[in-house]
Amino acid sequence: MHTCEDMYNRASAFHDGDLLPPEREAYEHHLEVCPDCANFYHSFRATIDRARDVLSVEPPPGLAEELVRSVREKLAKGA
Ligand SMILES: [Zn+2]
Repeated sequence: MHTCEDMYNRASAFHDGDLLPPEREAYEHHLEVCPDCANFYHSFRATIDRARDVLSVEPPPGLAEELVRSVREKLAKGA
C-alpha cells in the first residue's frame, strides 16, 4: 500500500517503467482510488510529455524530480 508521499516520490520511476510489477500494480491501484494522486500524476505526465516534445529527446536526469516538486507546489496552492 502506497502512501501519497510514496506516490509523489515514485512518479518518475513509474513513468519510466522502473518499478517492479507488484509496485507498479500498487501504484496503478492507488491512482484509481486516490483523486489527489490521480490529479498529481496527470499533471506530472502532461508536463513530462510536453517537455519531451519541446526537447525532442528524453528529459535529462533530474528534470523529472524537478517537475514533481513544481507540480506538488502547484497542487498545494490549489491551482
Ligand atoms: Zn494518494
